[in-house]
Amino acid sequence: MPCAITIDEPARIAALRRYGILDTPAEGAFDKVTDLVRTLFDVPISAVSLVDTDRQWFKSITGLDIAETARSMAFCDHAIRQDEPLIIPDAQADPRFSDNPLVTGGPRIRSYAGVPLRTPDGYNLGSLCAIDTRPRDFSAEQMEVLKGLAPIVVEQMELRLLAERDHLSGALTRRAFIAQLDKRIALFTRHDRPAALILLDIDHFKQINDAHGHPAGDRVIEAVSALCKGLSRPSDAFGRIGGEEFALLLPETQEADALIVANRIRAAIERFEITNDPPVHVTASFGVANVGAGRMSSEAWLSAADAALYKAKHAGRNQAILAPIEVVSAT
Ligand code: GH3
Ligand code: MG
Ligand code: MG
Repeated sequence: MPCAITIDEPARIAALRRYGILDTPAEGAFDKVTDLVRTLFDVPISAVSLVDTDRQWFKSITGLDIAETARSMAFCDHAIRQDEPLIIPDAQADPRFSDNPLVTGGPRIRSYAGVPLRTPDGYNLGSLCAIDTRPRDFSAEQMEVLKGLAPIVVEQMELRLLAERDHLSGALTRRAFIAQLDKRIALFTRHDRPAALILLDIDHFKQINDAHGHPAGDRVIEAVSALCKGLSRPSDAFGRIGGEEFALLLPETQEADALIVANRIRAAIERFEITNDPPVHVTASFGVANVGAGRMSSEAWLSAADAALYKAKHAGRNQAILAPIEVVSAT
């Protein structure tokens, strides 16, 4: 049976990217499902496989110690091209898989059952699969279980996406933002790629709540978030770090350029009038720090920016200050 070509592959890849799940650490909810599949099917291997442009990446895999394989050898790439589960009772007897390196070499896959992970908008992002090293059939009951578990995996993907966003501002949560910082630190360590962090805190926000009421305060948070997002690039990460404290992470950016961005946002906030009766005006203070020596953990990087922000507050607020370059002694 020839494989139908996946319709609108770029849209499928874009949908996969929107979940922000590729290359993230293991999470218990996904591992529980693959453990369950392994037990229920009595198979040595089970995986939640996501099919990326050129690879399949495993959000969870049990029974095999690999993080990804080339897409060309992915059984799951066949599973995502159909609506029905893909069942391979004997891979050696199947011309599509008989010369697959995962069949001819380790882990010597002989049988496979996979159900597509279909998003609510209809994209098959990968599959939930059971893999055996001996030929076998999968019963109708077992396939019903696998078909029941696959939507639970997709729901979990949806939930983790929601948990990463703050409702009021649409910004990344503190946890999700810190994960972005960690990623940039790794890129700086491995490839010397620059990145800058801007922290901002709304000035005298307590007084705004007191004078205009909490709902007006919420509208200020929404407006400041919208200004920050509007004045940053799509590749920048925007997070809500605290109640009225936000952060922007600018990849591939030197701190001097980040300071210019911070001042642009600062001026826009100062000019902005928040609809209210009477209208509300706010200002914000900023601290800017690049990744680098002495800032090689998300906490150290955040605290360098926070120290600069603290200086901005003490220097009279409504300003942006650059964290001093850290001098790290050679001893
Ligand atoms: P400073 O200029 O030094 O930053 O003063 P400030 O008043 O902004 O700072 P402080 O940290 O003392 O007060 C922050 C206030 O933000 C206190 C808290 O009630 C309020 N806040 C935190 N989260 C929210 C929110 O989601 N909505 C509203 N309306 N207020 C919030
Ligand atoms: Mg604050
Ligand atoms: Mg404040």
